[in-house]
Amino acid sequence: MITVVGSINMDLVVGTERFPKQGETVLGNLYTTVPGGKGANQAVAAARLGGKVGMIGAVGTDPFGDDLASNLKNEGINTGGIKRVEGPSGIANILLSEGDNRIIVVPGANHELKPQDIDTCKRAIASSDLVVLQLEIPVPTVLRTLEIARTNRVPVILNPAPADGFTDEFLDCEPILTPNESEAAMMFGENWEQALEAHPNRLIVTLGKEGARYHDGERHVRVPGIQVNAVDTTGAGDTFNGALAVALAENMPMKDAIRFANAAASLSVEKFGAQGGMPARGETMERLR
Ligand code: ADP
Repeated sequence: MITVVGSINMDLVVGTERFPKQGETVLGNLYTTVPGGKGANQAVAAARLGGKVGMIGAVGTDPFGDDLASNLKNEGINTGGIKRVEGPSGIANILLSEGDNRIIVVPGANHELKPQDIDTCKRAIASSDLVVLQLEIPVPTVLRTLEIARTNRVPVILNPAPADGFTDEFLDCEPILTPNESEAAMMFGENWEQALEAHPNRLIVTLGKEGARYHDGERHVRVPGIQVNAVDTTGAGDTFNGALAVALAENMPMKDAIRFANAAASLSVEKFGAQGGMPARGETMERLR
């Protein structure tokens, strides 16, 4: 069982010919709502790849809360750890225009996921094969999860995104960290390569289409990405993390697990949307042959 403790958002996607200037109103040409949030995305990625997944998180009492919970349930994810809190669900307001995006995230219910909620789910965490965390929930909640996992010797993947929520305190629990290059630079400085050696097999830096790198205790290893025609890289990192979780929970060696994660993420960038592009197990294995 993989337990994901993290954010659940509704993405409100709006497209327009050009971004409005301050105080200006423009007409849009697209509006759609799609489930997102790094926690939910990584849970869905892991479930599609054959993982048995439980999600711990919070949604609001608004209609989005129902939609978000049933979306996860439809993916076969155990939603018993999702609490309903009075008020709105988390949302991401995504404005698309001029080949670029501008995003505002309002955490809503995600910020009501408290350390006490993690205590309530202690048994589920303690009996997990692996726990997956990101940083879109409050820091004390992340810390409590790390502590419970450490006490029960459950390995943790901590995807440190957004990286400004990262604190060195997390390192005491020795999670596997999966920043992208800019997150690695925020956490360890521009010379983050040196940090790879200091955290062998625990710091996996993703490099976009170049794949990922880490240090195996003896040498630096780069696991090359798979060259594809990328149409939308949203959710590439989330797919990578969900896939890595499935592979490590199955006791795959690190290098094979990263190859699997690169393959899954390469499939995800060939389609639009974060969850929309997440692949199934079969096509991922096919890509590895
Ligand atoms: P994030 O999406 O979090 O910014 P990256 O850009 O490093 O992180 O991408 C995460 C993973 O997704 C990479 O390690 C790689 O496996 C895969 N990936 C990302 N972009 C591409 C691409 N253009 N082609 C193939 N794989 C990609």
